[in-house]
Amino acid sequence: MLSNLSNRSLVGLFLLFLTTVFFILLIRNDEPLRGAERMPTGLLYSVWYHDVAQCAQLPELGYYDIEWYVIPDVLSFKTSIGEKVGLWERNGKYSRITIAGAYAYDEMVVKHEMLHHLLNVGGHPPLYFEDRCQLTWKTWAASHHPSMTTQETP
Ligand SMILES: [Zn+2]
Repeated sequence: MLSNLSNRSLVGLFLLFLTTVFFILLIRNDEPLRGAERMPTGLLYSVWYHDVAQCAQLPELGYYDIEWYVIPDVLSFKTSIGEKVGLWERNGKYSRITIAGAYAYDEMVVKHEMLHHLLNVGGHPPLYFEDRCQLTWKTWAASHHPSMTTQETP
């Protein structure tokens, strides 16, 4: 009788443990995407970050709060919100930005994700993404390469 109760308590505790682990993993959501690798950034990215803060008219803060990831040798990658070439995610104090390898040095894509970080929003407020910085495919094409065909926003 006593050992039966103990076994039940142990099973209960174990299930509680599994449930807790499950929810911690769910809440943290801090796993990079499959195939993503940490990407060291250089002068070019810091110059682009400066440019984005300038055009957005925002303080140039938080450059080192971005963890950069690249998925090598891909044109795009699948996410819970669709196929993307770049993805910004808030991860506590930090941002995690993942870029498809083919776009790692694409000025528009990288700056677009930087602007998400500077604004700390997942959406695309037109004042910043369109009017001030032209960081959507459509506005970028119109301001830089008028003959380019338009694509969906990254
Ligand atoms: Zn975006």
